[in-house]
Amino acid sequence: MKLPQLNAYLHLLGPTPLAPIRLEDEGPVVWCKLEFLNPSGSTKDRIARHILTKAWREGHIRPGSVVLEASSGSTSIAMALVSAQFGMRFIAVMPEGVSNERVLMIRALGGEIRLTPKELGIRGSIAETERLAAECHGFLPCQFSNPENATAHAQATAREVLDQIPGGQVDAVVSGVGTGGTLLGLYQGIRESGCEPIPVHARPVDLGSTPEVECCSFSSRIPGVLDCVSQIFRPEELPGLQVIEVRDKDALATTRNLMRHGFPVGASSGLNYAAAAEMARRLGPTAQVVTVLPDRMERYFTTEVFEPMRCAN
Ligand code: PMP
Repeated sequence: MKLPQLNAYLHLLGPTPLAPIRLEDEGPVVWCKLEFLNPSGSTKDRIARHILTKAWREGHIRPGSVVLEASSGSTSIAMALVSAQFGMRFIAVMPEGVSNERVLMIRALGGEIRLTPKELGIRGSIAETERLAAECHGFLPCQFSNPENATAHAQATAREVLDQIPGGQVDAVVSGVGTGGTLLGLYQGIRESGCEPIPVHARPVDLGSTPEVECCSFSSRIPGVLDCVSQIFRPEELPGLQVIEVRDKDALATTRNLMRHGFPVGASSGLNYAAAAEMARRLGPTAQVVTVLPDRMERYFTTEVFEPMRCAN
């Protein structure tokens, strides 16, 4: 079936910019993909567009179909947006306790919410999507196990980076890992061009408040990068993988620093930038280190990122 032309505008969008960002006078430059400029405000628009368009073309979904995803945030917002454009029903299944901004965004985009018990974490939400999908013959994009998640980044994000970065040279790619689709896809897509970037996993550590639910990122201080249930992120597929640990409070401070420099980003952007800057320092001034700024600041108003702004007069 042909894709709806009238309302679906995602195919009309250009690449997101790749900005060289230096936050300190003598600090390193990091090449940042401004993914917060995607329509729903996050890089997850790429996987929602890619997976749902493919499913549509293959005849798995059509107007009126039900799409279900387990996600504590960005992916559900993106799926709600694309489902709205394609005339489909979307149900987000998420653990109780997820921030209200996200719930409101999904509902505003026509999506429905089903909450699963907090103590079961994201795994409980995944199990519930499977149960509901069997009941209503729904379509499951399965961001945690669908290899098309990484393909979306390999075919689009990575190719854009190669076109945008001087000389098409990338020395390292750095990202936090939720599903791992961003890091894996960027690395694989860039490698296909003949570059051999060092893959770097930016990992938040020193969680000030222990997440109430292990392996579920929504309750952590850096939402999106701790889900631990990915079946597509296998370190053996990233030869030479390095891990750079960033303390939560440094990731949050870097997020606020990015905001003060005019980048309206969420918490995982600070994590990614801090790890990428560290990598750039290690590799020296000629290295071109790439990372992504995954999402926008608005979905964090009630979180710790905005604590200092709440106290200011
Ligand atoms: N940042 C945010 C805000 C996210 O929601 C996610 C994914 N849940 C990530 C980063 C990590 O991206 P990926 O799933 O591709 O590893």
